[in-house]
Parts: sequence; structure tokens; C-alpha cells
Amino acid sequence: MVRSAIRPRSVESSLVSHLIQSPYTVAVYDLMHRPGEMREKDLDVVVPEGFGNAVIGVATGSQMHIDVRLESLHDGILVSGKIRATADGECVRCLIEVQLPVRVEFQELFAYSFDEAFDYTVHDDHVDLEPVVRDAVVLSLPFQPVCQEDCLGLCPECGVRLLDNPGHEHEAPVDPRWAALAGLDNLNDTITTDPVDFDTEEKS
Ligand SMILES: [Zn+2]
Ligand SMILES: [Zn+2]
Repeated sequence: MVRSAIRPRSVESSLVSHLIQSPYTVAVYDLMHRPGEMREKDLDVVVPEGFGNAVIGVATGSQMHIDVRLESLHDGILVSGKIRATADGECVRCLIEVQLPVRVEFQELFAYSFDEAFDYTVHDDHVDLEPVVRDAVVLSLPFQPVCQEDCLGLCPECGVRLLDNPGHEHEAPVDPRWAALAGLDNLNDTITTDPVDFDTEEKS
């Protein structure tokens, strides 16, 4: 029989979860089914796989710090977190590299059993914060990051960064709109209409 390379997901999570722990994983066995209990934990994560939008994101291997608060409720574990990280990207105007601080908070209930009201569940004896952290960070990132608010971008003619070249200008080019109007003038000159003299038409 050919062994399938794809293992069923349920087997993977129940057998391997104790061996493969992502840096976003937090054990909660001491809080489970003990409503009222609370614990705090600091996570220092070396981001194993970067994420972000098309122009800016948290890079693979970068440092992320998460202050986590875990509270035991009847339905599950309420996890609150404060994320501190740095996002790397590019200024959309002048294309230099930019680094933006990421400061974002989240709060999610990890239910003990599957419940349509909650997006996340406690796995065995731990919670995996990775999807929550990822969503919170990605939602906080700008779609149009700039190196500074008044970035002037690049010169449309030669491409130099205008903030680095104050007073930069070129010989005034012919404005394409005027060029078009000049063309219209020529057109008017060439379209001449023959004057019609009604008086000269057959009089007799
Ligand atoms: Zn810029
Ligand atoms: Zn220029």
C-alpha cells in the first residue's frame, strides 16, 4: 500500500502538538475549567514566518514581544494581548525602506469546545495565538506606508528623491495641454469655409 504524504489533520494535532510547539503557543492546563483564575505571560517571539500586506510586514526572524493575559471563564480561556513589533516596508512615494513600530492589542475567547459563536478553541491543553496575532498585526498595517507624512516622492522626470534635493527643478517643459491647443490652432487655420454670397446668386 502506498503511504500518503498527507497525514490527516486530526492525527497531526492530537499526536504531535506536544512535540511541535510554535512560539505563539501558550499552555493553559493550569487554568482550564477553573473560572476566575488568571495568569500573565510574556512571549518573546522570533517570527518564524513573516506576514503583512503587499507593501509592509513583519519580517521572518524579526523580534516580537507579546504581553499576554489569560483568564479562565466558564466557556473557555479569554486571552488578551499587547503586541510590540517592527514592520519593514517601502515608502509608496519615494520607495526608500521604512520601518514602522507595530503596537496593537487583541482579545479573543478560546472556547473549550467548538462553538459557532467563537472563532478559536483550546487545543488539548494549550492555545495557539498565531492566527490571532497575525490578524491583529495585518489589520493594523498601513496600505500606503510613507517614510514621513510630507514625503514629496520622486521627480517624475529624472527619478531623484525630492526630499534629498530641495529646490530640484528642470527646464520648464512644454505643457502637453498647450501643445495640444497649438495643434488645434493649426487645424482652425486649415479649415476655411468659402463665404456664400447670396446676393450674387441668380437674380434674374
Ligand atoms: Zn518617502
Ligand atoms: Zn528631476
